Amino acid sequence: MGSALEAVSASTAPWLHLDIMDNRFVPNLTFGPKMVADLRKRSSLFFDAHLMTVEPESLVDQFVDAGADALTFHLEACVHAHRLLERIRAKGIKAGISIVPSTPVSALIELLDYADMVLVMTVNPGFGGQSLIQSCVQKIAALARMRSERGLDFLIEVDGGINASNYSSLVHNGADVLVMGNAFFQSEDKAALVRSVQQNTAGQ
Ligand code: ZN
Repeated sequence: MGSALEAVSASTAPWLHLDIMDNRFVPNLTFGPKMVADLRKRSSLFFDAHLMTVEPESLVDQFVDAGADALTFHLEACVHAHRLLERIRAKGIKAGISIVPSTPVSALIELLDYADMVLVMTVNPGFGGQSLIQSCVQKIAALARMRSERGLDFLIEVDGGINASNYSSLVHNGADVLVMGNAFFQSEDKAALVRSVQQNTAGQ
């Protein structure tokens, strides 16, 4: 984790995306708030925590205390998503909501006024290295449309299978935040990859 953090810090990527998996909501297990707190001591990057867990409401305080700057949870894991978005916002950090590939954008209609960020999963969450599901790209465009029709300003984040050859179509459809895992860590020149994404998307 230390060397991964150094690699991100050495690039111009402004955010560190933290995938929290609980082996219940997704079939994999990563790390918890202690790891985030330990990373926080070594980094001033924006910490973008993505909770792929059941009962996300039980984890909010711990991840806020650990130093998360944004906390995103899954609509599918939470009955009272409106309440949870408001609770996260009241902590003074960005509140995000995410949907898996099988959840339609329409399920978010009542929540968009209360979210600082909407995270569109373009793979089924649980593992890195999967291919982007192309049919999810239209969800980005649909969200961007809803955002402009309603005069809202939430960020659209995309996570899953993003690489140097497919990111521009996501930005073209309205994505503001791109999460890269394998494409970044397997790149020979990580800083150059981030720089080229930033240059190619500047002003979009
Ligand atoms: Zn994620």
